[in-house]
Amino acid sequence: MPVRHLAPALLALAACGEPPRVPSSDPEDPTRAARERMVADQIEARGVTDPAVLDALRRVPRHEFVPEAWRGSAYADQPLPIGHGQTISQPYTVAVMTELAAAGPGARVLEIGTGSGYQAAVLAELGAEVHSIEILAPLAEQARRTLERLGYGGIALRQGDGYGGWPEAAPFDAIVVTAAAPVVPPALIDQLAPGGRLVIPVGDLFQELEVHRRTEEGYEIERVFPVRFVPMTGEVRKP
Ligand code: SAH
Repeated sequence: MPVRHLAPALLALAACGEPPRVPSSDPEDPTRAARERMVADQIEARGVTDPAVLDALRRVPRHEFVPEAWRGSAYADQPLPIGHGQTISQPYTVAVMTELAAAGPGARVLEIGTGSGYQAAVLAELGAEVHSIEILAPLAEQARRTLERLGYGGIALRQGDGYGGWPEAAPFDAIVVTAAAPVVPPALIDQLAPGGRLVIPVGDLFQELEVHRRTEEGYEIERVFPVRFVPMTGEVRKP
């Protein structure tokens, strides 16, 4: 596991110039330079080394996943609002979670908390077979449109509570939860394939990013670093 610096959850606002207008497939795409800088300064500099993860982050047009009003900050070192009280995670957090998921080509991956669809697109860029569940209908619908428009139509999307996982598509080589759970939902552990990894922020106000690895003998838990995510809602909050 590479050594990483602790990432402060709250980072200074950084302006990034005019909102990008050119689609990412354009070789003259002015957002490419912004992505290169994002990867070099925010991600490689803090110790993420997996070349496939770095490449995926260079390819996914993050500005397409944030609301118009925030596009100028799409490549800044911070989370951004995506409406309905939710956020797209800071690029570094997405990178670390993706690296910890270790989802190579053909890996079966489940994400809980589609949000904007950005993390799902990054996982899809690695060649993983991505499934993603979002509890809020308007966000689920919007993410579906964004992902289809950008050519990520192969991602399987579902609207609903991710607490119970996606049993019909299990087992998964990796499960990535992008909302903080007060406890680890048992179904997510159950739906891990042997050797599979669950990457999940656990806690309430203070949260820790955890990796639960399914081994021959049982499970191993690694605590990575403190994080700040929006809360996981639904069944996980019921007494
Ligand atoms: N991965 C997202 C970030 C999403 S923020 C991205 O790349 O943009 C966390 C998301 O989890 C929110 O959209 C929130 O609505 C969703 N969420 C919260 N509780 C959930 C649950 N029980 N099941 C599915 N999604 C949930």
